[in-house]
Amino acid sequence: LDKQQALRNLPSVHSVLSHSACESLLLLYSHSLVAKAIGDEIAELRTRCQSAKVEIDDDWYADVTTTLSILQSAKLRLSRRFGSSLQKVLNVTGVILHTNLGRAPLSGRALEAVNQVASSYSNLEFNIEEGKRGSRHAHVEDRICRLTGAESALVVNNNAAAVLLVFHEMGRSGEAIVSRGQLVEIGGSFRIPDVMAESGVSLVEVGTTNKTRLVDYEKAVTNDTKLIVRVHTSNYRIVGFAEQPPLISLVGMAHEKGLPVYEDLGSGALFDFESASVGDEKPVKHSIQAGVDVVSFSGDKLLGGAQAGIIAGKKEWIDRMKKNPLLRALRPDKMTLAALEATLIDYELEKYEDIPIVRMLLESSDVAMDRTQMVYEELLMQDKEFYPLEFALVEDHAQVGGGALPLLTLPTPAISVFAAGFHAGQVFRVMRSVPGTPIIARIVNEKVLLNLKSLLPGEEKMLIEGIRATAARLRKMV
Ligand SMILES: *Cc1c(COP(=O)(O)O)cnc(C)c1O
Repeated sequence: LDKQQALRNLPSVHSVLSHSACESLLLLYSHSLVAKAIGDEIAELRTRCQSAKVEIDDDWYADVTTTLSILQSAKLRLSRRFGSSLQKVLNVTGVILHTNLGRAPLSGRALEAVNQVASSYSNLEFNIEEGKRGSRHAHVEDRICRLTGAESALVVNNNAAAVLLVFHEMGRSGEAIVSRGQLVEIGGSFRIPDVMAESGVSLVEVGTTNKTRLVDYEKAVTNDTKLIVRVHTSNYRIVGFAEQPPLISLVGMAHEKGLPVYEDLGSGALFDFESASVGDEKPVKHSIQAGVDVVSFSGDKLLGGAQAGIIAGKKEWIDRMKKNPLLRALRPDKMTLAALEATLIDYELEKYEDIPIVRMLLESSDVAMDRTQMVYEELLMQDKEFYPLEFALVEDHAQVGGGALPLLTLPTPAISVFAAGFHAGQVFRVMRSVPGTPIIARIVNEKVLLNLKSLLPGEEKMLIEGIRATAARLRKMV
């Protein structure tokens, strides 16, 4: 086909726009947006014709310049442009608290509470009984106190914000003593020493990486010491020849010297996972009972609620933090408070299984095995539909993730996916991009692994649909 001829024969925007097949698109988007998308598509075809040398491939031209083809491309443009960037995905990484995938899915009660509070006015800072201004912190404070045994509590945006606020209030213009074994980096460049510097606190390191004794702390106390800090080594453990003083002794020594103790608990469990034989995480209560003055922990790690930082402890300190000017910049939103309060109610009602994160952690490996087996059999049943994918059941383990319980592995089988002639990376990419819900898996030894421990109940069908679509896409790519 001659180039000039091809350019002349391109359809007009008007002709595509007035085609009956365009009607469905016009129901979804305004006339001007549809016209613009069609115009952009035709402009792109024009550019591609112009950049051709002399002749244009007839087959290609016939294929891409039909009204239907242009409409389809315009539809794709519009859905890319106006579809949400933030969207649901299927987590088959086997990592239960995956920070990149949004950490904790919320309980039903939490979802309902967010919906209620976000879709109408609320008493966020209004005391209904007294008919005057109230505090946004009041909605959750008593519940946190009952669940942790603390006298008082406060909620901020996340635990990083909590650490910042606590250091600012308790250690500012003075020294805080921390063990060298606990100078943690959490990820995303959040390092305890940097946060202390940012809060105007001088860090005094004591002990060594593996061993810190009570006397190390005692010897480091000076007139400038304001605070003894203990940091949960969330995402790592020092094992072997290692020692830290028991919490009780550390608190006893600090209080004898008139110093407060702050413990950054990281995950902060409200459920006693240790008693349920799931890992070695002590519940928050344990620290409060040991006499720690202030603790802080995340709302969306082991707690299984919304992103939040919870500060709990002695009333005198919490009251001071409530008046700290930084709090205004760190305070949580009403949706966060609604989700957090509802999750705390789940705990108070002992409806642990309603909280997805807690349920997944307590779920027996038999249950995870059964679900995996069920999906696996479904995939094998119609092998034509899933060609060229091949599946196998393999041993694997799920992880808690989110910097919690790093040594705990939960034996869970996985479905390994393999396609002759394709790299695992290609299969992985197609799984993320097929229509429907993106599937986020992981690659181990050149095979894509689907670990269903982190898949939510009821999502199995979506997973199978996504794999079916992946197979169809791969068949086109051969
Ligand atoms: C995760 C973690 C934080 C940060 O908590 P976010 O809620 O993610 O801000 C701080 N300290 C420790 C020890 C942690 O594990």
